[in-house]
Amino acid sequence: MLGALIMVHGDDRGLRIPPKMAPIEVVIVPIVRGDGTAVLDAARGLFTACKKAGLRVKLDDREGQSPGFKFNEWDMRGVPLRIELGARDLEGGVATLVRRDRAFKEEGQKRTVPLDAIVAAIPSVLDEIQASLFAQAKAYLESHTVSTGDRAEFLRLLEERAGMIDIAWCERPECEAAIKEATSATSRNLRRPARSATCVACGEPATAQAYFAQSY
Ligand SMILES: [Zn+2]
Repeated sequence: MLGALIMVHGDDRGLRIPPKMAPIEVVIVPIVRGDGTAVLDAARGLFTACKKAGLRVKLDDREGQSPGFKFNEWDMRGVPLRIELGARDLEGGVATLVRRDRAFKEEGQKRTVPLDAIVAAIPSVLDEIQASLFAQAKAYLESHTVSTGDRAEFLRLLEERAGMIDIAWCERPECEAAIKEATSATSRNLRRPARSATCVACGEPATAQAYFAQSY
């Protein structure tokens, strides 16, 4: 469920897909101005090296689209990591890594890495992005969760669509069916131990803590 939550937990620039779920983990955008032969060659070399390393990588060498347009597009589509490579980078023997989990201009969003070290650096950066998106989703979940031990309050919170409602639950399908019938909410059970003896919804013995929320 957290995975699904991260999926939909984008920002104002679009999706942010966790690396482990991303069809494309890394997109390479060569920044071509004038004769771009050297930059394109280097970008293709980088692409091949990434592929060989087993990364799900895409080279965006489309002509007729500006680098800025491409950056926005891949941001929107949620690709976790972008490599920017321009003529000046190439002269300096570096490329720029840009993380999708960080806000625009946030510290750590961009990092300059030597070209010959970039492929080796990518897996740990992807791990960091995965962990950061997971932590952000968890914090989001916690800040949108209300816990209750009272049946009437539970039903009222569900009616008010007050986010995730955390209750001790019996895990019985018929209990879930009754809750769904009354409120159209369903459970998300993350296998946490029950925090009280009885199910808040039906009064039978509780076997787990579960989140209930409206299904969207
Ligand atoms: Zn129950």
